[in-house]
Amino acid sequence: MFVVASPEQAEALLDAGKLRCPGCSGALRPHGYGRSRRVRSLGHTPVTVRPRRARCFTCAITHVLLPAGLVLRRADTAEVIGTALAAKARGDGHRTIAARLDRPVSTVRRWLRRARGAHADWLREQGVQHAYRSDPDILNHDLSWPTPLGDALNLLAGAALICQQRWDSRLPVWTLIGMFTRGRLLPPPLRI
Ligand SMILES: [Zn+2]
Repeated sequence: MFVVASPEQAEALLDAGKLRCPGCSGALRPHGYGRSRRVRSLGHTPVTVRPRRARCFTCAITHVLLPAGLVLRRADTAEVIGTALAAKARGDGHRTIAARLDRPVSTVRRWLRRARGAHADWLREQGVQHAYRSDPDILNHDLSWPTPLGDALNLLAGAALICQQRWDSRLPVWTLIGMFTRGRLLPPPLRI
């Protein structure tokens, strides 16, 4: 699995031979598409996505190119899940968030549970790394939030805003955060 900014960017990089295999650094070539799936964004209309697949010319391993606006094996976009996590960090409860996003209470409760503890710490670590890379000064501001999740999202959003300005990028903040967290704004659901 490989995270790309957008399907268009993935095509352009593949065509130009600029995507490299994470395992062996060989050039990746287009290799069909993954399974199509329905994903819900903030509105109500689900969109169908079919992630690109690419195969390494050298080691022959196939990689799925996940657009950064999606979250690995989740049916809602990074924007939807991120909005829920940000509301939680501000102190909202799962019922309020579920009603606002028009999602089942059980789904939102599951997201919030998965974003606690070790995963919140991992997100914070990604936030520190990307904030440091984009502008180490962010880390000097005393902006600590009462929870690791709040700290993590604050750092990730800070780094995303700096990237938007620096690259004059139109990529949405949650898509940039999707790149920073490599499609793991939430840990992938456990397979039973
Ligand atoms: Zn390879």
